Amino acid sequence: MTAPQTPAPSGSDPKGSEPTSSSPTASQAATQPPASAAAAKRPGRPARAARPNGQWKVDGKTPLNANEELKQIDDPLNVRERIERIYAKEGFDSIPKDDLHGRFRWWGLYTQRKPGIDGGRTAQLETEEIEDSYFMLRVRSDGGALNVAQLRTLAQISQDFCRNTADITDRHNIQFHWVEVESMPQIWERLAAVGLQTTEACGDVPRVILGSPVAGIAKDEIIDPTDIIAEIVRRYIGDPSFSNLPRKYKTAITGHPSFDVVPEINDFSLVPVVHPELGVGFDLWVGGGLSTSAHLAQRLGTFLEPRLVPEVWVAITSIFRDYGYRRLRNRARLKYLMADWGPQKFRQILQDEYLGYELPDGPAPAQPTRSADHVGVHEQKDGKFYIGAAPYVGRTSGTALAGVADLAESVGSDRIRLTPYQKLLLLDVPPGDVDRAVGTLRELGFEAEPGNFRRSTMACTGIEYCKLAIVETKANATRAIQHLDQALADVTQEHKLLPLTLNVNGCPNSCARIQTADIGLKGQLIMNDEGEQVPGYQVHLGGGLISEQRAEAGFGRTVRGLKVPADGVGEYVEKLTRSYVENRDGNE
Ligand code: SF4
Repeated sequence: MTAPQTPAPSGSDPKGSEPTSSSPTASQAATQPPASAAAAKRPGRPARAARPNGQWKVDGKTPLNANEELKQIDDPLNVRERIERIYAKEGFDSIPKDDLHGRFRWWGLYTQRKPGIDGGRTAQLETEEIEDSYFMLRVRSDGGALNVAQLRTLAQISQDFCRNTADITDRHNIQFHWVEVESMPQIWERLAAVGLQTTEACGDVPRVILGSPVAGIAKDEIIDPTDIIAEIVRRYIGDPSFSNLPRKYKTAITGHPSFDVVPEINDFSLVPVVHPELGVGFDLWVGGGLSTSAHLAQRLGTFLEPRLVPEVWVAITSIFRDYGYRRLRNRARLKYLMADWGPQKFRQILQDEYLGYELPDGPAPAQPTRSADHVGVHEQKDGKFYIGAAPYVGRTSGTALAGVADLAESVGSDRIRLTPYQKLLLLDVPPGDVDRAVGTLRELGFEAEPGNFRRSTMACTGIEYCKLAIVETKANATRAIQHLDQALADVTQEHKLLPLTLNVNGCPNSCARIQTADIGLKGQLIMNDEGEQVPGYQVHLGGGLISEQRAEAGFGRTVRGLKVPADGVGEYVEKLTRSYVENRDGNE
């Protein structure tokens, strides 16, 4: 049996990213009426009938576009059976387009970019002309938690099937490249043997659940969410009830006071609070997201007892499934529904239609007092130590991961964690082994005492593998880090500078969270002094998440006309940093 044929999804978007748009900001979106209402009020123009948004509960389930049709004709989760039975045996050319560009994502698979295609041609070419017959594969690590057997398996898969590639993504997945469809049955078999999966690693589904990398071990942890995350994954990942959401759905749960899971920009986020009467629990935030139109998650003002988290997660995921906008893909994230409803209406519908009971009001969480990246050597609550170490912009290899697994075993540890900042933590290191572990990690490319920029720079996949990319990212960012950590060492020391965050994207999407960085670089073609188009970046300045320095999150602003050539990032950021140090106010 072959797959049902449907039109290929529009855009065939390999990163699930939204096209460039002039969508309103969070605050604008919250206050502006929907477009149809605005048109109706315009004097002199006849009111246009409102077009359905494709909300299942309001408009019915008739698909309004090719993506929705594809998902309804055949649950994308079903494609795995076809991969194992047909495509892995008959090869790349046997895969129909609607599976290749549509349903494969539900199992963490995207075709990667053919090497050598210039970024200037990205927008001109069809997907088929850009894509290679190799795949990028994401493996979930919910909560960022891995044990030694899992790390060893990932390392071996990388070496056996993926040309030794392995990136730690900013959603603490492991991402491989150069995967052939013929290898997938073996890869899945090996992953399953150690309890890992690629189920719903991409697609319009609940993606990997971000969890605090120091869950269960940090001295200052307020509540350990490990069991809650495990329960949601066990019960609902791969559940057909949630395998057709309007778009991707991102969850972040932490019990650590540093907000170490970027809760501001997830669809469903929990951060820890202590209720004066009800004790320890969570504050619930909903509707955050970046891409080309950034929105901050909004507090619903409720207190969640830990035992209620799975059912409230189900309720909110169901609201997104039932009320989320499906007509236009670039308005299908939960953030747009939240922008139109507001937190009060959202909470009312959650309670009235989905939970059947009221949630108590809850206190706002306290501002963090420490860094969320967990880099460095830190004592655990049991007297052992965890070591947070930085590769360059998440890039590592199967060989290096195997080395970390060996190291962990040699110090008696069975716990490794990945972070949403593209970093790695080794847990449970006995005090006497810390120095050796720090040294071995360094040899493996993970630095526990990194310079400011190695610590705080992230980069997306970029033109090396991503079909949407215009500009290279990881190599440019790595060169910039190496320049900056040397060139600014004196300034950093003299002025006790905290790390400035530098996030680098290869296109207008926001896989590396450019809007939330002090310095965000968005890949595009720019004009050089000779009037030629060259790869470069549009500069965004002044973004940041809630931290020990910032009471509120805010998005960076595009500085019109401020563009940097791709080979000049280091020099530009050096000048910017020096200028900032000279001109800042007091302790700014
Ligand atoms: Fe995402 Fe980067 Fe690819 Fe753009 S180039 S879609 S930001 S990974």
